[in-house]
Amino acid sequence: MIVVMRRGSPPEAIQAVVERINELGFRAHLSAGVEQTIIGVIGDERPVNESVFRMLDGVEKVVRILKPYKLASRDFHPLDTVVPINGVTVGGKRIVIMAGPCSVESREQLRETAQAVKEAGAHILRAGAFKPRTSPYSFQGLGIRALELLAEIKPELGMPIITEVMAPEHVQVVAECADILQIGTRNMQNFSLLHTVGDLGRPVLLKRGMMSTMEELLMSAEYILSHGNQRLMLCERGIRTFETYTRNTLDLSAVPVLKQMTHLPILIDPSHATGNWEWVTPLSLAAVAAGSDGLLIEVHPHPDKALSDGAQQLRPERFAELVQRARVVAEAVGREL
Ligand code: PEP
Ligand code: MN
Repeated sequence: MIVVMRRGSPPEAIQAVVERINELGFRAHLSAGVEQTIIGVIGDERPVNESVFRMLDGVEKVVRILKPYKLASRDFHPLDTVVPINGVTVGGKRIVIMAGPCSVESREQLRETAQAVKEAGAHILRAGAFKPRTSPYSFQGLGIRALELLAEIKPELGMPIITEVMAPEHVQVVAECADILQIGTRNMQNFSLLHTVGDLGRPVLLKRGMMSTMEELLMSAEYILSHGNQRLMLCERGIRTFETYTRNTLDLSAVPVLKQMTHLPILIDPSHATGNWEWVTPLSLAAVAAGSDGLLIEVHPHPDKALSDGAQQLRPERFAELVQRARVVAEAVGREL
């Protein structure tokens, strides 16, 4: 942290800042210029709020040097993190596809979709049991019944499963059948949920809040990492902008930018980002080209009858075409699919 003093600050004001720095257990490094004095605060500044210095007489501004997140940063962990999930690895050379219905609706719908996405080349089955819906009158998911159906098809399917958990009290029951716990956009800052999944240690896919910055996403990641759970993946799923033609705006810059900021794998969800199946394939190809480690895609055998997110779900044959085209792009950028 650097404390910049106002021009012409009296020596007593500078001395008071130095004393406060020492009181807090840091060392002060004084750089007295002709017009202005700058004081360096030496030590790990992360737990300290800038206001402890900004409030003192004569202080013009306080500038942080260290990033507010630590365990998630590349400085702390320079190599890419690779997350092993029961036979599938996320974050390596191979791009991983998680696909399936928005919601588990019935045994037949789940089985048909799961088999179709597996045949088309998906590596992990996605399917919602607890659904975070904007309206309390919309379909809320089958809950525990959906988890039972997921547990039922799992042995015959032989694919890891990802499903969303919305509340700390559901973490245990969801973890009984899920290989990856998904934290949705609306819960990115549900801190008690982040603590609970951090303690559990099961792989987690943390989705970016629709109104959150990349730095805020990494601060939420830090909650999970600080509990010792390193098996963490991040997902960009579209953010709110002034554009209303698409459901959200896919922030593809999140891929290269987050890859610089953090060692964690980054996935893209073009289904929730666009809200329209027609734009899911082009943005999937762009995501692979930009360096995404994986895709999260909604697929439904009959999107017109879907109980949630029908407009954005791909029919299985369109999903199969997406995988083939994404494979070509993956090879072109030195990845595998
Ligand atoms: C989902 O993936 O099922 C979902 C609800 O996504 P999001 O949290 O990104 O809206
Ligand atoms: Mn959905």
